[in-house]
Amino acid sequence: MIEVTRFRLYPNKEAEDKLFSNFKICSFVYNWCLEHNIWNDSVLPQLKEVYPDIKEVHSIVLQNVIHQVRDNIKVLSALKKKGKKVGRLRHKPRHSMIYEQTGFKIDGNLLRLSRIGAIPIVISRPIKGEIKQIIIKHTKTNNWFAVVVSRTNEIDDWFAFRKTYRKPVSFKAIGIDLNVSNFSTDSDGLVIEHPRNVRKAEKKLRRQQKKLSRKTRGSHNRNKQRRIVAKVHEKVENRRNDFLHKVSRYYVNNYDLISLEDLNIKGLIGMSNSGMAKAIHDASWGKFDNYVQYKAENAGKLAVFVIAKGTTIDCSACGKAVPKELSERTHRCPYCGSVMPRDYNSSRNINFRGLQMVGVWAQPNHGFFDNEKLNTLAEIRTSILDINNPEQVFVVEAKNLPP
Ligand SMILES: [Zn+2]
Repeated sequence: MIEVTRFRLYPNKEAEDKLFSNFKICSFVYNWCLEHNIWNDSVLPQLKEVYPDIKEVHSIVLQNVIHQVRDNIKVLSALKKKGKKVGRLRHKPRHSMIYEQTGFKIDGNLLRLSRIGAIPIVISRPIKGEIKQIIIKHTKTNNWFAVVVSRTNEIDDWFAFRKTYRKPVSFKAIGIDLNVSNFSTDSDGLVIEHPRNVRKAEKKLRRQQKKLSRKTRGSHNRNKQRRIVAKVHEKVENRRNDFLHKVSRYYVNNYDLISLEDLNIKGLIGMSNSGMAKAIHDASWGKFDNYVQYKAENAGKLAVFVIAKGTTIDCSACGKAVPKELSERTHRCPYCGSVMPRDYNSSRNINFRGLQMVGVWAQPNHGFFDNEKLNTLAEIRTSILDINNPEQVFVVEAKNLPP
């Protein structure tokens, strides 16, 4: 979790002069790189030899300037490739500089910056986690700020969270399997269908795209059709986003720990689904993951991403591996005899893995247990009742979800 907080700085005249001089040098380096079309780190030592004044600036800060040139050029050329009209990068005076990882230290009410010195800082609220970056900024209204970027550890957050929610019954964990046949299946047995209105709009989009491909290039009709396609495309996107917001809100409102599969890995293990349909699914899944994550963060809940390998194969009741073809929609375990829908089995495994990841052994639907009380995953698995009923999944449309 990344935290960004802004604090006021009160440099004295001497520090202020140094900061302004640093900004000037940063501008000089930025412009030099632009003019010479060079933006790799290795240019710094040479520059320092030719222009010794540059050494007044902390070298990581300078490196960052070079990275900014590189990033800006990248963005520009990407836009150019897309056929956008773009100008050249201009020389601009700089009003900020970035310390990354090193060169800074917060010491009580002082911010110590390499090459600058100690500057009084007003820490108006506690800084959480490890500081990754400090951006020193000067505003047009002649104020100085330090923008502190810090990263907190999710697992630590989780333990802090656990302490504040000591009552076991209030804890609810869920695993969600995102899939192709339905949008999702969760470990409480809820299946959410693909949104019908999105499908409808997608169909319309394909129709309009086909029409577009038949129009003569450069013709007035083609331009007109292109605008129609863009409009329908927007409609698809809007409807899809509404759907994803609705479903992610449902999970964040109703659960404390939400476990999902790490999609990067899911992609690698290969779905038989290919081409366009897969691309669309991937995009929605990624978006859904983002929505769940940021909503969970804002609500003080936790979303975790577990390794996807084997979630469909493992038996969620006994833990043994039960390989199956993609076409097999039902999980039938020859070892323990459990029978349940394939995606439901996956979602239960995802839930277990999420719980393991945060270090809690739990019995889903029945609160959670301290490590001392219930120790092995096998014990938990065998203690779950009612797993032999494949009818227990319950299909809904997103519009019927409770708030
Ligand atoms: Zn089994």
